[in-house]
Amino acid sequence: MSSDLIVCGAGPAGRALAHRALAQGQSVTVIDPRPEFRWTATYAAWADELPEWVPSHTFAATVERPAVWTTRRIELDREYVVFDTAALQDSLDPTGATIITDRVVDIVPPSRSGSHALDMPSVRLASGSMLPGGRVIDARGIPRSPGLAEQTAYGVVIDRAQWAEPETLFMDWRSDNGADSVEPRSFLYAVPLSDNTILLEETCLAGRPALDTQLLRDRLAHRLRSRGITLTGTERIERVRFPLEGGAPRPGSFGAAGALTHPATGYSVAAALHTADTVAAGDGIWPSSARAVYRLRQAGLQALLSLPPQDLPLFFDAFFVLSPARQRAYLSARDDLPGTAAAMSALFAALPWRIRRGLVTSIMRP
Ligand SMILES: Cc1cc2nc3c(=O)[nH]c(=O)nc-3n(C[C@H](O)[C@H](O)[C@H](O)COP(=O)(O)OP(=O)(O)OC[C@H]3O[C@@H](n4cnc5c(N)ncnc54)[C@H](O)[C@@H]3O)c2cc1C
Repeated sequence: MSSDLIVCGAGPAGRALAHRALAQGQSVTVIDPRPEFRWTATYAAWADELPEWVPSHTFAATVERPAVWTTRRIELDREYVVFDTAALQDSLDPTGATIITDRVVDIVPPSRSGSHALDMPSVRLASGSMLPGGRVIDARGIPRSPGLAEQTAYGVVIDRAQWAEPETLFMDWRSDNGADSVEPRSFLYAVPLSDNTILLEETCLAGRPALDTQLLRDRLAHRLRSRGITLTGTERIERVRFPLEGGAPRPGSFGAAGALTHPATGYSVAAALHTADTVAAGDGIWPSSARAVYRLRQAGLQALLSLPPQDLPLFFDAFFVLSPARQRAYLSARDDLPGTAAAMSALFAALPWRIRRGLVTSIMRP
């Protein structure tokens, strides 16, 4: 018997979609080569991005006013949530769904002609079978590809008592990581994981290619040494590498595969949680305003990739002094075209002339 909904992929997006479709009373099939795989990534989001159904016990830490270091320290007036990865995964409970351990090799659209015609979409599995469903949603993530801009990071989890700075650092662009000023830049991301532990991650926000995680490891060790912390080599490690682009903003795709990754920040989990109910209900999440916002965000990625390394802190200095509403519009409001355009215009106006000129040239380039 076919399901109302087939979800291809059981990452954060696929599980969120399956979970919400089940909550709406639909019959759901989830297909993933490793459906039981326990996620290892540390996921975080702005608190105001999350739908109410996400339970607060999935939060490992909530930070009221995270800070950034650009050319100075700036406190952000926006609550930030770091998930307890295991609790988040468990809360996106697919109980009641049919779980198939297999690989989707093809998603076949409905066809009403031909001898094997199906008036339903279907998926072809690596095992050889064909599975029809009322709707099929591709949440298989984005495979890595050399042409795609990526985000990379190397992180360690240390005892919070070792961390002299009491705060969460959303971005710390200070130059104490040993990198030369003309080398591609990376920043420190520091977030609590519990009352006792903190994740310190040297991050390459966007690169084509992005910085290698071994280089980021060396930069992190250098940075921490200069702040009085020597790593022992026994710390829990987090390696990050994922494409910032490559998804398709279309009805049959969701999560990173469905272009929910913000091209200029890499965040997608909150957007997937936020839109899961709508997609589960069969409604669209790509009105023309959202497509236009997506194109503006892609221009934002292009701008980041083109900036000379020494200008990145100045760029973010101008961004983080925008009003909280403007910051939120650019970072989170995926279908607010006027808000996104206003935030980008305000940012552009606040940048030094030299940087503006460089950005215009890079964005006009085909
Ligand atoms: C270490 C790390 C930390 C991150 N931190 C954050 C963060 O703090 N906040 C944030 O918003 N984002 C973060 N991201 C980025 C992004 O949100 C994640 O990459 C997120 O996992 C994307 O979710 P997804 O479900 O769309 O895709 P994926 O997580 O890539 O899941 C895809 C799923 O599809 C399955 N699959 C693949 N191929 C097939 C196939 N052929 N058939 C069936 N199933 C298939 C895979 O097994 C997987 O389960 C982070 C990424 C990494 C790697």
